[in-house]
Amino acid sequence: MVNAYFRFYAELNNFLVPWQRQHTFSHPCSRDATVKHMIEALGVPHTEVELICVNGEPVGFSYRLCEGDRISVYPAFTSIDISPIQRLRPPDEGPARFIADAHLGLLAKNLRMLGFDVLYRNDYSDAGLARIAADEERTVLTRDRDLLIRKEIVRGCYLHAVACDAQMAEVINRFKLGRHVRAFSRCLSCNGELRTVDKKAVEHRVPQHSRQYYEHFYECAGCAQVYWEGSHVERMRRRVRQMLDAARVG
Ligand SMILES: [Zn+2]
Repeated sequence: MVNAYFRFYAELNNFLVPWQRQHTFSHPCSRDATVKHMIEALGVPHTEVELICVNGEPVGFSYRLCEGDRISVYPAFTSIDISPIQRLRPPDEGPARFIADAHLGLLAKNLRMLGFDVLYRNDYSDAGLARIAADEERTVLTRDRDLLIRKEIVRGCYLHAVACDAQMAEVINRFKLGRHVRAFSRCLSCNGELRTVDKKAVEHRVPQHSRQYYEHFYECAGCAQVYWEGSHVERMRRRVRQMLDAARVG
């Protein structure tokens, strides 16, 4: 065994047992344990870690611990870009694409309302969800830290908040989604993209009063559901503003 000293910063402390929070503590580690293994053994999912320094120098997940090492572990930074220092995972390309676990149906729906690509089913198994995340390079949204510890998951986001608007704020801020919002561009039911369609092509599938009053219609490329700019749209616009305002405050 070797003895190493750990210090976790900011919200990463939430994952530790109380006596380990907010200060440096020593912990025995098996010889040749990787820093990733030890961080997760202490309860912190690797997906939540953005920077690891050992004795002041940035290291990768595979670093093997030595006697007396002093390890500082930092979460995702929302205000500064530290990517040139030491990448722990491949760089993101374009706005994040997500897969939400079975408990986060409302979050999935709200993110879709802002136009984000979020897979969701209420019957995903942990293994099935992890496999889809790996195959499609999606970021896992969950409040289950054991799920995030699975090694096939590269990107994830543990939601600290329980309330949906606060969860939305966490996701919007962590993944800097504000400038990528395209409200009402995606189907709330199936995550398919909406495309404009000619009124004539879909009017037989629309209730008479909507057919009478509205001119702009959209069809989901996934499930073929028809949408139109009805009276509910103003309510949804207010909802979108509310979510973005909550994210700015949060
Ligand atoms: Zn659809």
